[in-house]
Amino acid sequence: MSMPEPIFPWQTSLWEQLSAYIACQRIPQALLLYGPTGSGKRVLAEFFAAALMCLQPENDTRRACGKCQSCKLLAAQTHPDFLCIEPEETGKTLGVDRIRQLLPQLALKPQYPAYRIVLFQLAENMNRAAANAFLKSLEEPGERTSFLLISEQPGLLPATILSRCQKIACGLADMQAANDWLNKQNPGTNPELLLKICGGGPLLAKQYADNGLLTIRQSYFKEWLDCGRQQRKLLALAEQWQKQQHIGLSILMDWWSGWLGDIVKLAQGCDASQINNPDFVSDLQTLADQLVLKDVYQHYDKMLGSKALLFTQINKQLLLESLLIDWWQLNQDPMYGRKSEQYFITQHQR
Ligand SMILES: [Zn+2]
Repeated sequence: MSMPEPIFPWQTSLWEQLSAYIACQRIPQALLLYGPTGSGKRVLAEFFAAALMCLQPENDTRRACGKCQSCKLLAAQTHPDFLCIEPEETGKTLGVDRIRQLLPQLALKPQYPAYRIVLFQLAENMNRAAANAFLKSLEEPGERTSFLLISEQPGLLPATILSRCQKIACGLADMQAANDWLNKQNPGTNPELLLKICGGGPLLAKQYADNGLLTIRQSYFKEWLDCGRQQRKLLALAEQWQKQQHIGLSILMDWWSGWLGDIVKLAQGCDASQINNPDFVSDLQTLADQLVLKDVYQHYDKMLGSKALLFTQINKQLLLESLLIDWWQLNQDPMYGRKSEQYFITQHQR
């Protein structure tokens, strides 16, 4: 028997919001917990679920007791009233079949006298048909049933679903607690920088620290800069990146789009404290000064489009080649560049 996994130190105030629902006995029929990767949303959702399903929750804290039959079943992952809906593989979409299987289960009463919980791990993975089917169960929820939706990109959820959910933002509620936690987990690292690079997700930041991803990220950044100056052969680099084993291509593309996002911010006058990759500020600032913002936006759009294709059957080598060529052109082509033209003119007027 074990207690549900405790929440993280930066989630204290989020838990206060959640336990207030229990205290007022106003349990949301559908609750959306959204925030960046690695912010601990799932742990928080499961902690809340355990409290709702517990047969003797603690009176003062509203937490699950860890001792009752329901808590024991949850700990053993065999609770019949706890349903977790997630894709079979990370990154895959959630099809309508999975939702259809759920509907007859929801038509029955929960087997235990407390709540039944249906947890969606990354609700945005539902495809359109799945979302439509899910909407039906939202409109006709079963008895004592609460849907907990976890999302990293709530903007991708249909408005019809969003409008039926109460929402809790699981970004960093307590930055200091997250910093302290990370420092304790990985002494000697730079928690502020790690958190920034990881978009504020402490668990992701810990993974970065554990796996030396800061160093790996640095070498990719250097290759990317070099590619813009064509100091390397584009096609060879595309091949190298496609074959590399350090990180998934989606992470590489997240980094890449993060660098582009920072170039845009710097071009608009933000400083190092406002960007996500402050350790690269001087190189990014140089690019922000040289490149044409309109072209950077276009390249950024292309990057987002390519990221969406990553989980399809597309030829990844060609995808990377095309992106790198685009990036190189953006760096090379002064004729398109208004800034470069101005530079050209001022040089000749001297
Ligand atoms: Zn219990």
